[in-house]
Amino acid sequence: KRTGDMEEEPVAKRHESGHSVEVASHYNKLQETGLAARSQSRIYYMRNFNNWLKSVLIGETLQRVRPSSRDVRVLDLGCGKGGDLLKWKRGRIKHLVCADIASVSVEQCQSRYKDMTRRDSRNDQTYSAQFITADCSKELLSEQLKEPGEQFDVCSSQFVIHYSFESQTQAETMLKNACAHLKPGGFFIGTTPDAYELVKRVEASDSLKFGNEVFQVTFDKKGAYPLFGCQYHFSLEGVVNVPEFLVYFPLLEEMARGYGMELVFVKRFQEFFEKHVKNEEHRSLLMRMMALERFPGEEKSAEEKSEQYAHAEEHRKGDADRPPLGTLSRSEWEAASIYLVFAFRKKS
Ligand code: SAM
Repeated sequence: KRTGDMEEEPVAKRHESGHSVEVASHYNKLQETGLAARSQSRIYYMRNFNNWLKSVLIGETLQRVRPSSRDVRVLDLGCGKGGDLLKWKRGRIKHLVCADIASVSVEQCQSRYKDMTRRDSRNDQTYSAQFITADCSKELLSEQLKEPGEQFDVCSSQFVIHYSFESQTQAETMLKNACAHLKPGGFFIGTTPDAYELVKRVEASDSLKFGNEVFQVTFDKKGAYPLFGCQYHFSLEGVVNVPEFLVYFPLLEEMARGYGMELVFVKRFQEFFEKHVKNEEHRSLLMRMMALERFPGEEKSAEEKSEQYAHAEEHRKGDADRPPLGTLSRSEWEAASIYLVFAFRKKS
């Protein structure tokens, strides 16, 4: 049995092969760092920006599913260490299934969930959850769900699907996991690098690489970019340095159509930002996240706060040529602007 819920521990995978092993072991080795250490990172603002973008995406999606579904059930495909657990809590969902290839990440995700529910025991607002360790590009989650035939209102796959484009079969399995269990009217939302942008930048470079001090993308060769298995290496301040694969978005769209999915939107991060920052609520969330202010109920020591402010000041120095987001450095913006955010909806 490889599924876990609150009582069970996730069990490590039995058979991994090819790049999956590398991806799983890479993410398993990543340490969860504290807030103070995170604030020292050169990608501190980019992380916050990505988190804001995911919060808005999740919030807007939940608003769209709510009229037809009060008890919202969500699948987080490639949940990692559970960075989105709180976003689902704020969205007051009913049930969450978290799946990831990296068993250590799933364990951390599960224990963060437990901490969250413990803190919450008085008002009982937290959703129920199941945790699954699985290579979602090779195994069908349907066999591991606690409730056979379970259907979801939302599948969220944040910064994950590009790992599955190693082969057509893997991409198809990933997509099946994302879409086959959605209710009619259900959403598949996600974020992934934009193949056009990556190819444009590597073609403009005089080597096989491009990037800056915070991120680097390295292709094996230039000139030909197959639809599946087009590998590049992505490293982000030591956060990710594993093989990824180009996702040509029109191909993803075509594949999703096979599961009755219609594209609601696909946007570059910048476009998404420009649209949603106009909304008062989203803008104030962004300001809180970027301005390092305390969220209600969040505990931050004075020391942590002053370190953060010092870092913010340092960060602002010497950056005359402001990127569109103000707080993000130009280098961070160059990295963030690689990504696409998308939403599909299952035909009713
Ligand atoms: N979604 C999380 C977030 O937004 O913070 C984590 C994103 S992290 C960049 C990518 C995640 O995808 C890692 O946790 C990794 O283990 C997971 N992953 C990569 N390939 C996978 C696969 N084939 N099946 C399931 N998870 C996978």
